[in-house]
Amino acid sequence: MKKGKKIYEGKAKIIYATSDKNLVIQYFKDDATAFNNQKKSTIEGKGVLNNRISEHILSNLSEVGIKNHLVKRINMREQLVKLVDIIPIEFVIRNIATGSLTKRLGIEDGTVLERPLIEYCLKDDKLGDPLISRDHILNFNWLNIAQLDLINENLTRLNDFLLGMFRAVGIKLVDFKVEFGFTHESGKNEIVLADEISPDTCRLWDTITDKKLDKDRFRKDLGDLIPAYTEVAKRLGILHEQSNVSAVNVTKLSSVKKKTK
Ligand code: UDP
Repeated sequence: MKKGKKIYEGKAKIIYATSDKNLVIQYFKDDATAFNNQKKSTIEGKGVLNNRISEHILSNLSEVGIKNHLVKRINMREQLVKLVDIIPIEFVIRNIATGSLTKRLGIEDGTVLERPLIEYCLKDDKLGDPLISRDHILNFNWLNIAQLDLINENLTRLNDFLLGMFRAVGIKLVDFKVEFGFTHESGKNEIVLADEISPDTCRLWDTITDKKLDKDRFRKDLGDLIPAYTEVAKRLGILHEQSNVSAVNVTKLSSVKKKTK
């Protein structure tokens, strides 16, 4: 598949065209941002780990019938994915209260929610991704009722699947954010899960110690982000137990792969 020109660059990923008009290449950068772009850094090796972790999760989701944009991973930093029109809504699912929920509503950090809580945010950096309601989505025709219901059903299944997957490896899935888009293939306009699912987009706490294994290590200046993401990858069986992935190793792996292309 020939890589074409850059068609979009986001905070953590770049999208390139390919020779197939329905497929694009998603490149995972090492850039980290938080607090609506106010905090920025580059963390060597993060993109490589997120590429592997997201590939693992999305291919498992395909196996249980949760449709998503992933076609295949191409190399250490790139995936071939279906071109989609991203729905401008961030879908957040929470199992334990933390982050913006605790600040907004004064709920105590760490409160286990009685049932999963779905929140919607408008994907608009200039407005600071404001929280919106189901009625906003329907009123402004961002989605119709059938589409929103389909997504909500998918979110519940997705949360159940991810909760189980992480619980099996000693990790609590605290909350996560996902995005959906419309595919272009032969006028089908199907809604599929897109973007990524990784420690950048999920909050993951060790079941026993509550150690944070996600992007909060960057947001809260806790350090050791690469070892935490590596730990997630190892527990999911993506990296071998004995492999000691430092940022330097990950970068080396990445460049070796590129040279052999
Ligand atoms: N999240 C994300 N991208 C965003 C905002 C949130 O991936 O632009 C994820 C975040 O990693 C967490 C969940 O969504 O797993 C809920 O985030 P929250 O609303 O608490 O955001 P905060 O402002 O605390 O990052």
